[in-house]
Amino acid sequence: MKNLIIAVDGYSSSGKSTLAKGIATMLGYIYIDSGAMYRAVTLYCIRYGIIQNSVVNMELLNKNLNFIDIKFQLNSLTGKNETWLNGENVEDEIRNSEVASNVSIISKIPEVRKKLVAIQQKIGENKRIVMDGRDIGTVVFPNAEVKIFMTANQLIRAQRRLLEMNEKGIKISLNDVVENIKQRDFIDENREVSPLRKADDAILLDNSNMTRDEQLVWIMQKINQL
Ligand code: C5P
Repeated sequence: MKNLIIAVDGYSSSGKSTLAKGIATMLGYIYIDSGAMYRAVTLYCIRYGIIQNSVVNMELLNKNLNFIDIKFQLNSLTGKNETWLNGENVEDEIRNSEVASNVSIISKIPEVRKKLVAIQQKIGENKRIVMDGRDIGTVVFPNAEVKIFMTANQLIRAQRRLLEMNEKGIKISLNDVVENIKQRDFIDENREVSPLRKADDAILLDNSNMTRDEQLVWIMQKINQL
């Protein structure tokens, strides 16, 4: 099989990362979580007071953008590709609820997108990657050989997310998770720059009633047919 770029886009908590990691493992490809990059920039902005009460200080952000260094590093113990921000492992911290409630605001900013898209395109230069996000098949890699667009019922997504957070010991109500998902869906779909939308040539996957294994088998069949 020739070297591919596989773009996995879709709604928050629709199972993108699970599927993308599964595909990467099957093909021996690198998995890149582009959402982690937006989360890392958001964490930086929270720490340095660039975002406060949902308001972004654009002057301060522009001054700081060049000082934000994001990398992925393989943790040999867990086998996971972890997110590093300016030399610090922030893989866990970027998943907290404060970052979750601010990330869509930061992701709307064109300067932030420009910086991160450039890094993502660089990572994909040699292909053999599976990248998940919101604009991978539409903006980052419009020529990706495989594009998948994932969705699932909003309540099912919230329940999955709640389970994931509970497993990590994070206490939050289902209602709060539903609200966060609704808010992120709305901002992601309605922002001016790179809104979340299915690329015309993407394969649609609604996994509301599918197990993880069923999804992987289904998509691997499609990839193998290519
Ligand atoms: O994938 P995840 O839910 O971790 O992404 C966090 C947020 O980052 C999304 O809600 C979205 O606002 C933003 N994002 C984006 N473009 C991407 C990936 C993520 O705008 N390619």
